[in-house]
Parts: sequence; C-alpha cells; structure tokens
Amino acid sequence: MRYVYDYDEEAPGGRELLGGKGVGLAEMTALGVPVPAGFTITTDACRAYMANGKQVPEGLDEEVGEHIARLERVAGKRFGDPADPLLVSVRSGAAVSMPGMMDTILNLGLNDVSVEGQAASTGNPRFAYDSYRRLIQMYGEVVDGVDAHRFESALSSLKAARGVANDLDLGAEDLRELIRTFQRIYEEEVGYGFPQDPREQLRRAYRAVFDSWDAPRAQVYRRTYEIADDIGTAVNVVQMVFGNKGESSGTGVCFTRDPSTGEAGLYGEFLVNAQGEDVVAGIRTPEPIERMRERLPEAYAELVRTLERLEQHYRDMQDIEFTVEEGTLFLLQTRTGKRTAAAALRIAVEMAEEGLITREEAVARIDPGQLDQLLHPMIDPTAEIEVAAQGLNASPGAASGQIVLDADTAEERGKAGDDVILVRWETTPDDIHGLIQARGVLTAHGGMTSHAAVVARGMGRPCVAGCEGLSIDAAAGTVTIGEHELRAGDVITIDGGTGRVIVGPVRLVPPAIDENFGTILGWADALRRLRVRANADTPEDAAKAREFGAEGIGLCRTEHMFMAPDRLPVVQEMIMAATEEARRAALDRLLPVQQADFEGIFEAMAGFPVTIRLLDPPLHEFLPDPEEASSDAMRARIAQLHESNPMLGTRGCRLGLQHPEIYEMQVRAIVRAARAVAERTGAAPLVEIMHPLVGFGEELRRLRDLTDRVAAEEPSVEYRCGTMIELPRACIRADEIAEVADFCSFGTNDLTQTTMGFSRDDAEGKFLTFYLEHGILERNPFEVLDQEGVGELMKIAVARGRGTKADLKMGICGEHGGEPRSVAFCHRIGLDYVSCSPYRVPLARLAAAQAAL
Ligand code: ADP
Ligand code: MG
Ligand code: MG
Repeated sequence: MRYVYDYDEEAPGGRELLGGKGVGLAEMTALGVPVPAGFTITTDACRAYMANGKQVPEGLDEEVGEHIARLERVAGKRFGDPADPLLVSVRSGAAVSMPGMMDTILNLGLNDVSVEGQAASTGNPRFAYDSYRRLIQMYGEVVDGVDAHRFESALSSLKAARGVANDLDLGAEDLRELIRTFQRIYEEEVGYGFPQDPREQLRRAYRAVFDSWDAPRAQVYRRTYEIADDIGTAVNVVQMVFGNKGESSGTGVCFTRDPSTGEAGLYGEFLVNAQGEDVVAGIRTPEPIERMRERLPEAYAELVRTLERLEQHYRDMQDIEFTVEEGTLFLLQTRTGKRTAAAALRIAVEMAEEGLITREEAVARIDPGQLDQLLHPMIDPTAEIEVAAQGLNASPGAASGQIVLDADTAEERGKAGDDVILVRWETTPDDIHGLIQARGVLTAHGGMTSHAAVVARGMGRPCVAGCEGLSIDAAAGTVTIGEHELRAGDVITIDGGTGRVIVGPVRLVPPAIDENFGTILGWADALRRLRVRANADTPEDAAKAREFGAEGIGLCRTEHMFMAPDRLPVVQEMIMAATEEARRAALDRLLPVQQADFEGIFEAMAGFPVTIRLLDPPLHEFLPDPEEASSDAMRARIAQLHESNPMLGTRGCRLGLQHPEIYEMQVRAIVRAARAVAERTGAAPLVEIMHPLVGFGEELRRLRDLTDRVAAEEPSVEYRCGTMIELPRACIRADEIAEVADFCSFGTNDLTQTTMGFSRDDAEGKFLTFYLEHGILERNPFEVLDQEGVGELMKIAVARGRGTKADLKMGICGEHGGEPRSVAFCHRIGLDYVSCSPYRVPLARLAAAQAAL
C-alpha cells in the first residue's frame, strides 16, 4: 500500500484520495502552473491511522522520508541543512473543504542553528527570524495546543516596549528576542524545549493533522453539513515559498470573478511582505488586488494569465491562494469558488455566452435552493450597511423589527401589528407561538438544524442562527451584538440569506427576476418536460404567478373567497339556514361574487389552464368561536357542526355530496365566469373543475354528474372535471377514479398527513420538530416529499390511473410542487405538471429542467 504521492506523479485516485487541496496542487502541477514542489499523504493513511487506534500505519514514516529526499533533490536544498535548509509547510486538506480542521504550519524545518544559516544565506536576517518565530508559534498552537494568546500577548508587549504599532517595524534583533520569548513560552506550556530535529517536527505535524480530523470543532462542522465522519483528511507537505522576504514579495487570495456580483475580472486582496494567513488574519489591512499591478507588475501579469488558464481548465470560477517570492509568482491552492446566488447566475450566463460551458451546464450549475435567497425580500443592494455580527444563514429573507427577548411578548406584539425580531440564545418548541408572530428569528446558539432554523424555514421566516457575536441578558433586557449594546425594543435587521445582522432598520426590496435570472430560466424552460403552474386564489396572485413564469393555475382554493369580510356573513347565513330554500337564497347572493373572482383569475391566466377546487374545509371554519356567537341559534349550530377531528371529518367532497347546492353554485359561477370572459376577450378560458378529498370512484361519479348537469343548464362552455388525490385509498383505487376523471392532482399536503397519520398542525413545532432534532426523521415531510412512503403511493396512482386512461393528465399541487428534490421526483414518475406558490415558480422551473438533464 502506498500512502504518499508527489504532485508531479500520477496518483490512483482523485479528490477522495488526495483531498481537495492535494488534487488541486497536482492538477496545477500537471498544467504547468507555477506551484511549489511537494507531496500528499493520502486520506488512506489518515483512515488507517484512525482505524489503528491512532497509530501511524507501518512504513509511512519511511515513505515520507523517501519523498522528503526526492523533494531535497528537486529543491537543491537539504532538510535540516544548517547553512541553507529546505523548509516546508504542512497543510490539511479533506475531500470536502472543511473549516475547523487543523491550521497550516509554515516554515517547518527551521531550528536554532539553521535559522542563522538562513539569515546568512539569504542575507536577510529579519526574514529568517520572522519565519522561525512564526514556526514556533504555529507549531506550538497546532501540534501542542499552546494557548495562542500567550504568543500574541508576547508579540504585543514587545511592540509596546519598542513603541511600534506594526509587526513590520520590528527589526531583526527584536525578532530574535521574540524567538527566545516564544521558546520559553513553548517550554513552559509543553514541558520540554522546541523540537530541533526537522524530521521529528514533520512526524509530529502530520500526526497532528490526522488528529485534527477528530477535533470537536471539525466534528461539529461535519454534523452541520452532513459530511461523513470516516472519509478522513489528506496532508500536504509543500516546499515553502516566501512572501515575507521584503518589498518585492507578498501573499494574497483571489477569485477569478467577483463572488458577490459575478462580474468577470480578478477580485481579491493582497499584502506586501507578508506570509500565509496575514491577509485574512486582519493584523494588517490588505490592499485590493489591482494595486499589485503597480507594485509587482510582472507577477501580476503572470497571475492574470494563470487564472485565465485555471478558469479555462476547470470551466468554473476559481478561488485561489498565492504567494510572490521576490517577484516570482507561486500558486498554493485553487478550488471552485463559493458565490452568492446572484453571482452564480451571472457567472453561469456569462460563461455560457463565452462558450466556456453549454447552456445545459449553466442550468445544471444553479442550486435551486440557493435561488431561494433571491425570492424573498432582500436588503437593498445599494443600501449602506454596517454588519454588526455574522451568524449562519439559516432561513432566507431579510427582516427588520424591534428586538423582543421572549416568545410571549413576540406573540403579543406581533399580533398587535408590530414588526418584531425574536432574539434568543436558542429556541425551543415552547417558543413556537412567538416564532409565528415574529418577522424573523436571531439566535446565538445552534446550527442549520437547530429548532429555530428548522421551524423558520418551514414557515418561510428569515432566521440567522448560531450568531456568536450575540449575547443576551434577558433579566436586564439588553443584548450585545458585536460591538453594539442594545435594548429590547431597539430595531435590528437580519438577513437570513447571508447570516448578516445589522443594527437599525435597512431598506428592503421585494424579490424580482433580474436579467441573468431570466436568462437562466429561459434556458431551463427549453429543457424541461414538466409544466409549472402556481397555486393562486386571487387575480393578484395569478398576475404575480404569470410574472414568475407560471403556465397556469394548479390550485385555486375557493374557500378564501368565502372568508373575505364582506362575504363571510352571507356564508354564515347559508350555513345557518334552516331550510334548503333559505340556503339556496344565501348561495344565490354569493354566486355573482364568486363569478367575479373567477373572471379576474381567468383573465390574468388567459391562454393557460386554471384548476379551481370546490369548497374543501369543514363548515365550522366559517363560524366564530362559540363565545363569540351572535345568537343561541348560532351557538347551537356550532355545537352541531363540532367534530373531534375535523381534518378527517365532513369536508371536501363529503361536504359537496351532502350539500349539493354549494357545489352547484360554485360550478355555475365558474361556468358563467368562463362564458363572460370568453365573450369579453374572444378567448375561452381553459377551465378545470376539481373535486377535493375523493377516496371512492363513486364519490367522483356523482360529483361529475352534478357538475355536468349544472353546466348543461348554462350556455355551453368547455371544461374538464377531475379530482385531487390526497387519500391513500384514492392512490390505490386510482384506476376506478380515472374512469370518471379528466385529470388528477396530487394534494400532497393532505396525502402526507393521511399517509403518515400526522396532523400537520399537531406535528410542526411539536413532535415533528422533536423527530427532526433527534434524527428520527431526516427531513420535514411537509417540506420535502417523502418519496419512499407518500411517493410510492403516488407511483401506484400514476400506474393505475393511466392504466385506465393512458392520457390521464396528472399533476401535483401540494407545497412540495416547489421543492427541488420533490420536483425531480415528480418528473421521474411522469407527472405532467407541478404547481406551487407563485414565489417558488422560478425554482420549480429550474428544478424541472435539471431533472430532465
Ligand atoms: P487553509 O486550508 O486554511 O486555506 P492552507 O494550507 O491553504 O490553509 O494554508 C494557508 C496559507 O498558508 C496559504 O494560503 C498560504 O498563504 C500559506 N502557505 C501554505 N503553504 C505554503 C508554502 N509552501 N509556501 C508559502 N506559503 C504557504
Ligand atoms: Mg488555503
Ligand atoms: Mg387537501
């Protein structure tokens, strides 16, 4: 078994074996990009080490020794040479990029003797001492766990004693003194002197990398992002190149395109006379990358050329780290760059237009989940903001509101119409009532799967979780956010799409589809087979849905029309009516109102199908609470309509069959509206009348008779008559249902409830949240379709329904219709369309295209 591969060798594996960093360095070497020489100790070695009870696998130390010898030949320097030593960095690098792993050790190989040799051979003592003090510091912290503060405060005291503010103002002698101080700290903390044997330094360093795989912070990270625990990390040993050799040296980080806007052209920062992570450490303020053009013109030109090649090679935006040693450029890392949703769109469009990638690839590259960021209210990109603290982007969207520290107050104030942000150390199921009424949630603890995050995503509320800069003194009613001291009632803004927290209100902008987004969606439309419709109950929603590209309405709920304040009294009168005659009289008054609603929707959706679902909820939902009833008669009726489990009670078609006059009125209103719109506009609406909660063919047969009979009484209009499939029995008997249905639409909200025996209202925020937090369920089945359970029933329904009627039109109108994984499933099982809320239509269009690729 071989465990070590040089960068210029062919290795028998890629990222899984060499880690992301190792594979990048090897590929760059093969491309002829300037990269220092070095080698990778594979993830196999790490896994063997772990499996061995943290014993280095046999032969590894020798194998590393052979590769060091080879590196010595390439570099023309010897490891441990007292006059001109070979120095290396030791770097961790797993297959997936993982902050929280071991920090890099630079300048490994120096000791008390060779540092003098290096000072002499380079003629630059300051540089040599700076390198050595960095080694003692990094090695001490990383390998032996010495408290970083001890080194930092020693450095600060020295600067204070010399009256200088900047590390660069310390001279060679100062640094030599610092080395002695650092060595004393090391010895005090570790119990013996700083190791002088470079080979021992190296052995201990790469063991420390293996060990860091198990460090608590790495474990937490893996759990948060669902990374397997057993893949292990690789170790990279890389010849040092030095950015701290003076004014013609430096170090930097750079993207090939702007990661927040996607604009083409280098975007990054760089620092002259600096090493390693000085750029990100914030000790000195780096300069924008363009300044490098003036300071180091040749290295800059080489950087531009190199990045062009890397982008051409990887065909994607790269995020790179580099160092310039006395004018010569070296790349130290490349990886595909993370980017905002807006940048992802722009980059994909422009790369396709440049011919670097195909349109299919451009479409495939966009993460529909990330697009969610763009489909919620956002912070106005032109607003000047100061970020007070940064947390996890747990649920997208931005919101401003007053700080509220407990759920009861959040509920009370939210109900009173105030905009509030619930700010907590963490949330628990007992806070759910406050979450519901808050504009957003901010927590100090917890990750992407914390209670607050899960619940907020479920409700579409913005949430920033795990915000370390937040602390709360609930008793005093104060919170600290970053540097700011605030009180309950003060306004803050959270951006759940990026995790930013801002003090004070910020201008928000409603979501819109910009040009790049539009282009990608246009390409997606050409690729997908699934049609995408929207769930919309009003002409306004229908118009919004059209704007987002909906090709029809998959679900128009008529009960919302009954709830409007001017109509509810008439609806109540209808429900209260003692005789059928009185009931019909009330319905006659509702008819023109419903007709007007339908006309508005048909007009907004001209040319596209509109599925109207007849009344679904139980009648008691239209009556007040008993205490608020206006008469004894009403109280009696409420009592009479009471059900112990309304979700499974007299609702849907059961209601329509018992009270045919209600559905008759609705059918009449639909048909008349269609007629009126056809006459007015010259185009007949595509009408689909849908009966809810059917479980038996016989139910639909009778309702179809009712529909056809009423329609025949009106001037002729074309329509289709179908049903929702939202009961397990309806799936299983889809063959008999299909005999009388022109179309079927899966109502997966109810189908999930009825398949699982979960009442959604009693599950979310309660046992379901417990299930998710404790890993009994991986995902909320009301968000992501349960393909193994509910999905199997859907497959049965498709097969049996189309067995009866080969061209039976089938779709989905539950909220899953806008969830990317569920959309892909709908594509696979052969549905004709998905229907989702208007704001999710763009996501569904993209997901449908990706499913078809
Ligand atoms: P991370 O995974 O945190 O990015 P790296 O292993 O990339 O850690 O190292 C961090 C930084 O250390 C690099 O960006 C680079 O500036 C510096 N570095 C690492 N190896 C070398 C080397 N061989 N020569 C010079 N600088 C190096
Ligand atoms: Mg790096
Ligand atoms: Mg339903």
